[in-house]
Amino acid sequence: MKTTGFVKKIDELGRIVIPKDIRKALGVNNLEYVEFYFDEDKVVIKKSGNCCSFCGSADNLAAFKDKYICENCLSELVKESGELKKIESSLKNI
Ligand SMILES: [Zn+2]
Repeated sequence: MKTTGFVKKIDELGRIVIPKDIRKALGVNNLEYVEFYFDEDKVVIKKSGNCCSFCGSADNLAAFKDKYICENCLSELVKESGELKKIESSLKNI
């Protein structure tokens, strides 16, 4: 295993900052997902594959404008969009 030379303190909420050089080497940008794996007595952080921008699911994805959305979130979005149209049309009738 290759050392990175970085030592980070975990803050009071259990968070650590992944050093910029490590993020760059992994090809991970801010607000993207990473996965944690156990490897005996170590934890490995790996760039996550494609996942839903809303819930993080990697199942049944569709792409829209460089973002991914899962089938469940897409259904909810379509349903809410339809409900918004009903509300909008009822407001116009007042
Ligand atoms: Zn989703």
